[in-house]
Amino acid sequence: MTARIIDGKALAADLRAKVAAEVRRLSTQHGLTPGLAVVLAGNNPASQSYVGSKAKVTVETGMRSFDHRLPDTVTEIELLNLVQQLNGDPAVHGILVQLPLPPQVNAQRVLDAIDAGKDVDGFHPINAGRLAAGLPALVPCTPLGCIILAKSVHPSLAGMEAVVIGRSNIVGKPVTQLLLAENATVTVTHSKTRDLPAVCRRADLLVAAIGRPEMVRGDWIKPGATVIDVGINRMSGQNGKSRIVGDVAFAEASAVAGAITPVPGGVGPMTIACLMVNTVRAACARAGLPAPAV
Ligand code: NAP
Repeated sequence: MTARIIDGKALAADLRAKVAAEVRRLSTQHGLTPGLAVVLAGNNPASQSYVGSKAKVTVETGMRSFDHRLPDTVTEIELLNLVQQLNGDPAVHGILVQLPLPPQVNAQRVLDAIDAGKDVDGFHPINAGRLAAGLPALVPCTPLGCIILAKSVHPSLAGMEAVVIGRSNIVGKPVTQLLLAENATVTVTHSKTRDLPAVCRRADLLVAAIGRPEMVRGDWIKPGATVIDVGINRMSGQNGKSRIVGDVAFAEASAVAGAITPVPGGVGPMTIACLMVNTVRAACARAGLPAPAV
């Protein structure tokens, strides 16, 4: 079998177009322009690149982008003061503090200070708790993207046997909650799981969020399964150039799976598109409007 490649780039472009249409509608019908504030502390090149992409897509979808760049000497108090200012700013509907933060700053304290209604990363304990309780919440962007990718293959995930590798607060746990909400039967695995390959072979839907390059081999995959590879692992390649690989050995896995996300071009592009979705949802909720169509 040769797996169908799930085109995350195309699905993300569709989603961004839907967000842009909603933004136009909100502006025309309600005079509302959603705004996203992104806070970057320090000079981490990967973070600078992510923040640049987020700001660009925010503007492309018709929203307002507020860019806050702080030196890596920023203190926790200065960051907390900025978060308070953004919490109180009516033009700002979403706040994203780019991680990692410099070592002198307690990142959890800063994330906890964000107004839960503006927490478009979905990392605030209130949103995590609401998601776990099955209540409406702002949901972390990467897991949201994983579900959209899986549903592009299976419009209903109900009754599917899903296995998630990884239990982080950023990916593994929220994707597990979202799969439960879709009525999948979910097994969560981690570094202490016994005989992980055997557990994975049960999966109709396998989500790998490990951070270990190509750890999931072809013989871990049930024939015909759908594989969502969240991993982003930078490997040094030939000529000193680096390349990105996922947590799944793509060539082996795509010979067995029914459908699979590539890396790059799978989950990655969906993450920013879902950030835009969350910003529009947060803006509608703040304005007392019904949830948008995205
Ligand atoms: P993380 O916080 O390091 O969590 C990794 C998880 O994998 C942990 O639960 C860990 O288990 C588990 N794990 C590690 N080694 C394992 C092993 N040998 N067998 C089974 N489980 C193992 O990482 P994360 O933040 O969730 O990110 C995971 C990957 O997704 C990374 O490659 C990251 O770059 C990528 N990512 C991509 C996006 C995107 O936009 N595409 C967004 C976020 C993350 P324990 O809990 O037992 O330690």
